[in-house]
Amino acid sequence: MSEQMSENNECTHDCSSCGADCPSKGAGAIEKEALNPASEVRHVIGVVSGKGGVGKSIVTSMLAVEMRRREFGVAILDADITGPSIPKAFGAKEGVEVRENVMLPYVTKTGIQLMSVNLLLGDETSPVVWRGPVIAGAVKQFWTDVIWSDVDYMFVDMPPGTGDVPLTVFQSLPLDGIIIVTTPQDLVSMIVEKAVNMAKLMNIPILGLVENMSYVECPDCGKRISIFGESHLEETAKEYGIAALARIPVDPRLTALTDKGALELMENDYVKAAADAIEGL
Ligand code: ADP
Repeated sequence: MSEQMSENNECTHDCSSCGADCPSKGAGAIEKEALNPASEVRHVIGVVSGKGGVGKSIVTSMLAVEMRRREFGVAILDADITGPSIPKAFGAKEGVEVRENVMLPYVTKTGIQLMSVNLLLGDETSPVVWRGPVIAGAVKQFWTDVIWSDVDYMFVDMPPGTGDVPLTVFQSLPLDGIIIVTTPQDLVSMIVEKAVNMAKLMNIPILGLVENMSYVECPDCGKRISIFGESHLEETAKEYGIAALARIPVDPRLTALTDKGALELMENDYVKAAADAIEGL
């Protein structure tokens, strides 16, 4: 990954080693954490949401599965400690190897490398009561102390919201782009605007919007029912000048697969366009 302003003076969003006078040297001008020298990570994509429970973790997991199916080296850095959604979706309970100064990630059945606070804590049911700086510190450690092998695309499941913790994660990792996950209700509120503004402030490109729980499809007649209100995906994306990447229905098969820890068996193309955008980075 390039650490400096490129030769043709294009900003690479890493101010730590760049001497140029660049407009991005504002709120985002903080030191990026150093990747472990034994790791290889080529692209880092943050998945964000304005609030919890919109399906950010399931979308992150589906993106990872899709990119792995395309035969890329894929990793997930789970920075959302509000629940063990990601380890659960992959049936991961333990398996992180902790050595003297480094950690080796859990490797899923199809070969996705995964690191999560929830994997280190052991007991799935105990609440995580860490404060912001501790969470941010753990995430930084996952970047610096975990050995990530040959990763083309790393997905960072960001803490929900637009507060201090996601902001710190945003600032300390060299994100190449972000995907914003919303529900139809969020699209009519200020939530998306906040996420868009946060990304803009950090000078990180927004790859696009994913609308989750967009509709339900009748299993008998195929009719789509908009249980959370009509979609505003296209108009919202247009308003902010970003791409509309996916409309994902409420799909009981997804819930069943995540409950079984078998999301890697998913049979849908809900995140195909989003994966295309990532591949085009
Ligand atoms: P977040 O990461 O935004 O907090 P999760 O991805 O953990 O949200 O999703 C919350 C719950 O909703 C999970 O149990 C998940 O399996 C379920 N869920 C999310 N999106 C869908 C969907 N499109 N269809 C069915 N269940 C879903």
